Order: sequence, then C-alpha cells, then structure tokens
Amino acid sequence: MIPTLVLVGRPNVGKSTLFNRLTKTRDALVADQPGLTRDRHYGVGRLGSRDYLVVDTAGFDPVAKDGIMHEMARQAEQAIAEADVLLFMVDGRSGLTPHDQEIANRLRRVDRPVFLVVNKGEGANRAVLGAEFHALGLGAPLVISAAHGDGVHPLLDEIFEVL
Ligand code: GDP
Ligand code: MG
Repeated sequence: MIPTLVLVGRPNVGKSTLFNRLTKTRDALVADQPGLTRDRHYGVGRLGSRDYLVVDTAGFDPVAKDGIMHEMARQAEQAIAEADVLLFMVDGRSGLTPHDQEIANRLRRVDRPVFLVVNKGEGANRAVLGAEFHALGLGAPLVISAAHGDGVHPLLDEIFEVL
C-alpha cells in the first residue's frame, strides 16, 4: 500500500508550495490569497524507490460551523481520515497564532503520527524558530523552506522512519 501524507494547516502557511515540491508538479494552486485550495488535491511523489501519495487541503478552521470555512473543515476532516501521516504546517515568519492552536488541539486527538513542520525557515535560526512552536505539544518542530527546498529531504526521511 502506498502511504498517504496529508498536509494540514491554516491558509497561507505554504501547504501547496510543499505539495508541489513533494510531487514535483504545479498541480496545487499557490497564491497570496489565503484559502484558495478549497477541495483536496492529490499527487504522487517518490523518495528513492518508495512512492507516496500527498494530499493538499485548504487551510481549515476546526471550529467553523457554517459557510465556506465549514466546507473546508469538512474536506480537511476527510483528508485526516485518509492519512497515514499528517504534516501540520505552521508559518515561521508569522509565528504561532490562535488558529494554529485550534488546529493543534484537533490534531492531538489523531491516532496517527503528526509531524510539526515550521515553514518559511530560510535564513532563520532553526533552534530559535523551532522553540516557539514546541509549545504546541506536538513534538519537535522540523524547520523547512518549502519554497527553497531546505529541510524537505530530511523531513521525508523522518516520515519514512515511522511508516
Ligand atoms: P497554502 O495556503 O498553505 O497552500 O500556502 P501557499 O503554498 O499557497 O503559499 C502561501 C504563500 O507563502 C505564497 O506567497 C508562497 O509563495 C509563500 N511561501 C510558501 N513557502 C514559502 C517558504 O518556504 N518561504 C517563503 N518565504 N515563502 C513561502
Ligand atoms: Mg493551498
């Protein structure tokens, strides 16, 4: 069975950029406008001889009750149900937000491995950046730059360790 990696996180943290890098496609919509990916996007990638499926979700608000935010949350919940591993992305530039906390609260109840991925980490002090997000209680943050590719290969190596 091909393992499924699911990207979750609030809008604009860089999920679609990481999706494109992991699948080497331009399939996911990347935009400055938050929340552009409203449904789930699927792509395949390969590390060495190992294939994996990547699912890109719209940024989601786990407590949204109606409207488009609720539909995004529903899509994200479906993707979470399909996941072998979850990649919870946060934005190292904007820092920890209440919205990140809400998503973290949801992900703490997931019974599969969750990797806390701090994106936009290019040029930053990784230890300092990581420390801020440790407070989410989801383990050691992995600092990457989806746009530049820094830390993406080590992240995949860590994921395949637990699969
Ligand atoms: P999504 O809403 O989570 O899917 O985020 P996107 O992938 O659409 O990216 C949102 C914005 O962040 C875009 O302007 C990207 O170019 C930018 N971005 C994504 N990854 C990085 C990164 O590693 N570093 C920086 N500086 N910007 C990034
Ligand atoms: Mg997106």
